Amino acid sequence: MHPHADPAPSAAEERARRLFAAQQQAYAAAPYPSAAQRRAALQALKRQIQRYQDALAAAMHADFGYRAVAESKMLDLLASTLEINHAISHVRKWMNPSRRRTELLFLSNSVTVRYQPKGVVGVIVPWNFPVYLALGPLAAALAAGNRVMLKLSELTPATNAVLRRMLGEIFAEEQVAVLAGELDDPTVFTALPFNHLVFTGSPAVGKLVMQAAARNLTPVTLELGGKSPALLLRNYNVAEAARRVVHGKSANSGQICVAPDYALVPRESVQEFAAAAQLAYAEFHETGTRAPEYTAIISPAHHARLRALLDEARERGATVLRCGEGSRLLLSARQMPLHLVLGADAGMRVMREEIFGPVLPIVPYDTLEEAIAFINAAERPLALYCFGHDAAQRDEVLRRTHSGGVTVNDWGWHVINHDAPFGGVGNSGMGNYHGEEGFRELSHAKTVFKRHRFFPIDLFYPPYGNVVQRLAL
Ligand code: NAD
Repeated sequence: MHPHADPAPSAAEERARRLFAAQQQAYAAAPYPSAAQRRAALQALKRQIQRYQDALAAAMHADFGYRAVAESKMLDLLASTLEINHAISHVRKWMNPSRRRTELLFLSNSVTVRYQPKGVVGVIVPWNFPVYLALGPLAAALAAGNRVMLKLSELTPATNAVLRRMLGEIFAEEQVAVLAGELDDPTVFTALPFNHLVFTGSPAVGKLVMQAAARNLTPVTLELGGKSPALLLRNYNVAEAARRVVHGKSANSGQICVAPDYALVPRESVQEFAAAAQLAYAEFHETGTRAPEYTAIISPAHHARLRALLDEARERGATVLRCGEGSRLLLSARQMPLHLVLGADAGMRVMREEIFGPVLPIVPYDTLEEAIAFINAAERPLALYCFGHDAAQRDEVLRRTHSGGVTVNDWGWHVINHDAPFGGVGNSGMGNYHGEEGFRELSHAKTVFKRHRFFPIDLFYPPYGNVVQRLAL
């Protein structure tokens, strides 16, 4: 072989290309599934989630080392079902062409916009919600009438096996194909000339995905992460805010793209907030005789990364408070109790990197102006949480900061309301899905102008004479 010749494609690469070609062909043969067909596909998907709910929860438990069953059922399975239900109820309406007004000049003609399936959509899935972040985008893509290739995470082999089985039972591979562990080089996937790519994962990999997609001019939806602040305004109940933030930071052990990353707290309330956070954590997870229902950190590497963040913070002078001193009944070596970090400075990794785990820096501020400036000095986050009773102050925060979405007086709940778009901004991503926005994102909005028989188009033909002078600009 010539030393610079491309290496022979692996079996996995060949399979990916074959599946892509098969989906393209199937799409060309049946390019516009009816509303009834789309609803049937979504109904079947919903039934499979119900049938496989225990198998999926067990698989996620195996992949994480410990995954609270309630978290798997609520945050992966229920959330997926809500997204699918919403699409089932609305897809017929979303598919309706929309009639638009013509320019006055073109009166008597018609302009409509049709929403056409894009074709073959690639979906890249991270490990933290391996079901919801596969089936949510899948539901949007199916509602929009597309064929879908899913690339699942290498860190969730057990969940991938169940997903492959349950999807394989209801979808031919020309409609929905699953690629998982066998694809050790993910760039093989992003090299395919998809008609759209939905990527959920880190900003660093998001940039690589967008570069790869650019070679094919494939449009991308990037669902990324970042450091989502929880801002406590003065006069809000400190203990209540701390409890809600701790819930966001300990559900799935903080391994959530929209988990509050750090808390911005009025300087005089920092100690009260820290004490309330410890109490809330104990109330949630220290059950005395029962092992905590507490999801473990996904892998030894991520566990080591989180420990390294804490070690560095300690070495550089921050105070680290371990919550849940009483709970010794951890079931997995990778279950990591919540840690609060006081006195973190901007140079520490814990304030520079997305934490994505049960570590909560509590950052003091003096004036609202300073808090807003602190948020705006960082990359635009995926979410922002603002705890406050004063509507004018909250409004000021919302107007002067950027974030993908916002929950006021709590965390995260804006994400699982599927009648509203979900997406990032700037470093936390681009494009939206969920509900109608997901349908629109994965459809091509095709404008169709239809000329009326009696439209005097000759006016616009040369020779122009003095028609231009007669046009009123
Ligand atoms: P990751 O970016 O490491 O991996 C995500 C996926 O990309 C995996 O399937 C992985 O195999 C694949 N991948 C890796 N390298 C690739 C490449 N060069 N080309 C194509 N694909 C590649 O992210 P992760 O560790 O799985 O997840 C954690 C990150 O995801 C965090 O930043 C978190 O905030 C973010 N996240 C965002 C959302 C959201 O909805 N916005 C949801 C969950 C997680």
